[in-house]
Amino acid sequence: HFVDTKNKIKFFNNSMLGQLSGKLNLESKLRKAISNKEFKLHYQPQLECKTNKVVGVEALIRCQKFRECGISPEEFISLAEETGMILELGEWIIDAALKQLKIWHNKGYNNLLISINIAPQQFQQDDFALKIEQLLQKHQIEAKYLELEITERTVIKDVNYTVEVLNELKKLGVLVSIDDFGTGYSSLEYLNRFALDKLKIDKSFVHNNNNLKIVKTIIVMGKNLGLEVVAEGVETQQELEFLINNNCNYYQGYYFSKPKKAVEVEKYFEK
Ligand code: C2E
Ligand code: CA
Ligand code: CA
Ligand code: CA
Repeated sequence: HFVDTKNKIKFFNNSMLGQLSGKLNLESKLRKAISNKEFKLHYQPQLECKTNKVVGVEALIRCQKFRECGISPEEFISLAEETGMILELGEWIIDAALKQLKIWHNKGYNNLLISINIAPQQFQQDDFALKIEQLLQKHQIEAKYLELEITERTVIKDVNYTVEVLNELKKLGVLVSIDDFGTGYSSLEYLNRFALDKLKIDKSFVHNNNNLKIVKTIIVMGKNLGLEVVAEGVETQQELEFLINNNCNYYQGYYFSKPKKAVEVEKYFEK
């Protein structure tokens, strides 16, 4: 299996080319999927730990076409971020999620909340809060039923700007949570400076028995800062019991339900 230097270099170049053309191919697939609106949203219930009642759902994007090629939402979302297409896609997501929420509210599930994942570039758009306000207006939904999930990656880009946008959102009345909390490298100081409502403990901590002290600590810290705490990725009864015993506010995860189509998730709602 001896390969001389020349062949090695050639092989390396070929594989780079392959990767590049794969990516270009994917990029054009994504562009097409966006213009043809080949996406749908699935919804995962979020429950109050104390009562085990569904209080809201997190909207998660799906695409049949990409699924067939083995490309996960995480992968095509990150490509959408790299290429800037996330702005158009992100707007479609908010619009579609609010449209669905309105349908549910009209069916009598009046208090249901919707959580939507917001990519860094969306948050950093000039008129982000205004866009949100207009979409709420369009769908006739009160701001308090909308929760935006942003990550540490988003908030640490430009701290002063973040403070400004979060204050605008607060004024509007929408809720904001920090997603994947504990996986970023930001300082804790911002938790105090930013107008936030909730912390979502990353699923990697919730799952791992070795990390239960971290989960405990995040719950206590979040609460001391006046934030509500959500645990994501709850897969077992044991994990849920731990969260209940440690006064976590909300949870979501496969233990209760995977993300499901709108018509399928409805059965969990109470009027
Ligand atoms: P995320 O926001 O942290 O979403 C949670 C992910 O964990 C989802 O994966 C969900 O299906 C999965 N999950 C839920 N419960 C469990 C569980 O009990 N165990 C395990 N192992 N996983 C669980 P999904 O839907 O594949 O999304 C992956 C990521 O892609 C999301 O992570 C988010 O960063 C991004 N994403 C998904 N939908 C959207 C979207 O509409 N907009 C944006 N900007 N990003 C999205
Ligand atoms: Ca999320
Ligand atoms: Ca998360
Ligand atoms: Ca994530």
